[in-house]
Amino acid sequence: MTPPTWVFDLDNTLYPAASGLFQEVDRRIHRFMVERLGLSPDEVPRLRSRYKRAYGATLGGLMAHHGVDPQEYLRYVHDVPLERHLGPDPGLRGDLEALDGAKVVFTNGSVEHTRRVLGRLGVGSLFEAVFDIAFMDYVPKPRPHGYRKLLEALAVPADRCVLVDDLEENLDTGRALGMVTVRVAPRGTPSTHLRVGHPRNLPALFDSAGPPFLPSCTETP
Ligand SMILES: [Mg+2]
Repeated sequence: MTPPTWVFDLDNTLYPAASGLFQEVDRRIHRFMVERLGLSPDEVPRLRSRYKRAYGATLGGLMAHHGVDPQEYLRYVHDVPLERHLGPDPGLRGDLEALDGAKVVFTNGSVEHTRRVLGRLGVGSLFEAVFDIAFMDYVPKPRPHGYRKLLEALAVPADRCVLVDDLEENLDTGRALGMVTVRVAPRGTPSTHLRVGHPRNLPALFDSAGPPFLPSCTETP
């Protein structure tokens, strides 16, 4: 049996939410809207929720209603001092090496940001490809458009892909398309997907001898 293809989300999945990096990017999105677009700080949260509902992410609304260039936006919001939040993670490298099968990143961020983060963690060479928001034609997860493009590009049946993400809604779409889904979240988090507390626990979740995926359990630390 050919090994599965591992499809990893980046933010708060390959590095922990506690690093604060994702919150820093979030603050820069706010700043972009105030500084570059001249919006009032009070107005920003409301607009962001409206755009998130309508387009799946803030960026979609900024492109549709403010003429924002997505590349410029992504460069701005990802311009964060990574070294303040992340360091090399040899443990993660070993854990990923232990997973048989090709690994790719599937993220609502940019390929440049992803490569920088993977490089900082010391795991860049383990990923064969990065499928980013530009690849998804700026239609973010959890919208199915990017997932369909991803599956086509991978040329692997959906049920041979393991989608690993920290967000329930991103996994819901993957499952609807037939992917095997694993949520990275603390123990006790309500989820209808398989769950691990850390990517290191992925091997324990799958019985490598079983065809094609036999979760040995649905709760690991
Ligand atoms: Mg994430």
